[in-house]
Amino acid sequence: MSLTEIKTRVAKACKSAGRNVEDVTLIAVSKVQPLERVEAVLEEGHRIFGENRVQEAQGKWPDFMARYSGVDLHLLGPLQTNKAKQAVELFSTIHSVDRPKLARKLADLAQDRGSSPDLFLQINTGEEPQKAGVLPSEADDFVAEVRALDLPIKGLMCIPPVDEEPSLHFALLAKIAARNGLTGLSMGMSGDFERAIVLGATHIRVGSAIFGARDYG
Ligand SMILES: *Cc1c(COP(=O)(O)O)cnc(C)c1O
Repeated sequence: MSLTEIKTRVAKACKSAGRNVEDVTLIAVSKVQPLERVEAVLEEGHRIFGENRVQEAQGKWPDFMARYSGVDLHLLGPLQTNKAKQAVELFSTIHSVDRPKLARKLADLAQDRGSSPDLFLQINTGEEPQKAGVLPSEADDFVAEVRALDLPIKGLMCIPPVDEEPSLHFALLAKIAARNGLTGLSMGMSGDFERAIVLGATHIRVGSAIFGARDYG
């Protein structure tokens, strides 16, 4: 599929949900993709990209950013506190704030730098032991804790379990966000972004549908 086709599908989903297409940010998830595929999407004019790992992003994006203006990078994967400094220097937005220790580290960095990336707090809506994020039952406390650190919370993020209907998880995330007065919803990937849009996604993270399957070789 191409970027253009994905944009058409996003527009269609917005229309049928009665939403403005400007209210849905399409993040092209470029992790693991060959540089020429990423460059092709840059050439098409897209500027918003998502990566999972700080180190991988550091390896490819400074060069692209020198050649294409206006690149906006989002970190989607788990962040270790010892990589947080590099992360805040490279990414405009971090979608994977998943524990108090990381929030405190980001607050310290924000103090030093006088600014912070936008943050999404990751909620483990499926309560999967292997997955990052706070449990739904702990979400309200976590939001309060991060707010008390004076950090800019853009919203909430989830990655539904692979074998469950994602809409249930999107609806749960939307409910937790609403009761905490948060408007940003980072949810929806290649297989389910239309359903996420219907349920209020403001940031969809689409990788393989734009770039093709990832080859982990
Ligand atoms: C890889 C990844 C995506 C994109 O997945 P696709 O199925 O390729 O669209 C989205 N969000 C996160 C957190 C990811 O790790």
